[in-house]
Amino acid sequence: MTHPAPLAFFNSLTRDIAPFTPIDPDLVRIYSCGPTVYNFAHLGNLRAYVFTDTLRRTLNWKGYAVNHVVNITDVGHLTSDADAGDDKMEAAASAAGRDIWDIAAFYTAAFKADLGALGILSPTLWSVATDHVQDMIAFARTIEDHGAAYRIAGGLYFDTTRVPDYGLLAGARPDETIGRIDAVAGKRNPADFALWRASPVGERRQMEWLSPWGPGAPGWHLECSVMSLKYLGKQFDIHTGGIDHREIHHVNEIAQNQAFTCSAETGANLWMHNNFLVDRGGKMSKSKGDFATLASLVDRGVPPLAYRLLCLASHYRSELEFSPDSLGAALTRLKRIVAGVTLLRDQAGAADWIRAVAEAGDSRGAATRYQRDLIEVGLSAPARALLARFDAAVAADLMTPQALPVLEDAIAAKVIPAQERLRLVASMDLVLGLGLLTLDRRALSLRPADAALDDAAVETLLAERTAARAARDFAASDAIRDQLASAGVEVMDGDPARWEWRARLTE
Ligand code: AMP
Ligand code: ZN
Repeated sequence: MTHPAPLAFFNSLTRDIAPFTPIDPDLVRIYSCGPTVYNFAHLGNLRAYVFTDTLRRTLNWKGYAVNHVVNITDVGHLTSDADAGDDKMEAAASAAGRDIWDIAAFYTAAFKADLGALGILSPTLWSVATDHVQDMIAFARTIEDHGAAYRIAGGLYFDTTRVPDYGLLAGARPDETIGRIDAVAGKRNPADFALWRASPVGERRQMEWLSPWGPGAPGWHLECSVMSLKYLGKQFDIHTGGIDHREIHHVNEIAQNQAFTCSAETGANLWMHNNFLVDRGGKMSKSKGDFATLASLVDRGVPPLAYRLLCLASHYRSELEFSPDSLGAALTRLKRIVAGVTLLRDQAGAADWIRAVAEAGDSRGAATRYQRDLIEVGLSAPARALLARFDAAVAADLMTPQALPVLEDAIAAKVIPAQERLRLVASMDLVLGLGLLTLDRRALSLRPADAALDDAAVETLLAERTAARAARDFAASDAIRDQLASAGVEVMDGDPARWEWRARLTE
């Protein structure tokens, strides 16, 4: 057994790390709160999905199949998570003067493209909130029948005093909920929230459905209770989201689940939350307007996988600071790794083997297990020792910051034959998702959108400069370096990764 380290995860419910045992022996069921599709995802949002992808890949690598459901929120999410403000989708549609369904389709496609660029596996199922409104109505009726909801002019509201231990997940004290009082007339308790939001009399929303509580739209928290129950069952293994969801959204999901099932079961055994991506202004958020997207990185010449590496280099439960410096360091590190793997590929003459491994795998757990076994068969003792270190790191609540140096050690371990080192890289990359078997340096040299020169022109100038240096014409060589610098291209002589140039990152 090459992956013996026992898996353990931090559970936000108990605020503790505990050994992980799935409900079914071979299949892990995971639900991840997905994006609200009224705008592009920002890099903070994408951190949440790099985290869930790492979780899922680790489970696959450890031998489990995974049933992973991710929702698309295209209705109901208000500008404040705490049950106040406008519907984000409606607000975006009216601000842009566009059809709300077009907005949802456009940003859903953009989100999926971002995930693809980051090497994030597609979930087993995308579930779209507006496809499940009838299910939500039925669910809310049951909660009402169980006496945990009340009708007011504003719609149907959940009575948070009807579930024991409301707010346990957030660790909230009663006085912390006071700030959530808003202007909804008839609301009984500050923390109560809408299950159904009735359209104001005389107003029509773009998205509107008939219900026992009048025309309107479902409350945001309802969709995740309903879709996780429908596709994963009453009690499944892991529910994920960003740490903001630990305070309100998941608290309310748990309350709904308990009122629906008339039990103390929360819906998931484990609630896992990634910490925030922050920049100088604090938590990155779409509502702040000027936010960083994956496309904005590409425009600056940074390949998306450098951002993936930045995420992996910090633990998912730590805050991660985003800056041109931290991103630049991640890009340089990725280039070094790729340069090292490229050398191994050349030395190992491994093209056929790489193809076989790639063909053996797809995104399902069973295939990953097969792929992993194919990669690891017959590894020598020193190689297996590196794998064991890697295993210990990722099994301990996904300690990717400790796993990455093991990858780098494996690439550099001269005592291990190149072919075996490449196989170590291949196995570790099943968890890291950087695409290291096929990634090459060309793919990492992106041209910034505002660059004065294209890649071919840069390469031509570099060739001329190399020729000038060979002819000891240093004046000409320096002139070319200056010309490149003024076009935002930095020449890197003697770079250990043998990378000749890079685009300078700007704010
Ligand atoms: P949203 O599109 O707002 O529904 O959020 C999608 C996911 O991103 C959720 O899991 C959020 O908790 C998460 N999220 C939002 N902002 C950040 C941030 N700055 N850093 C990390 N995760 C975030
Ligand atoms: Zn959710």
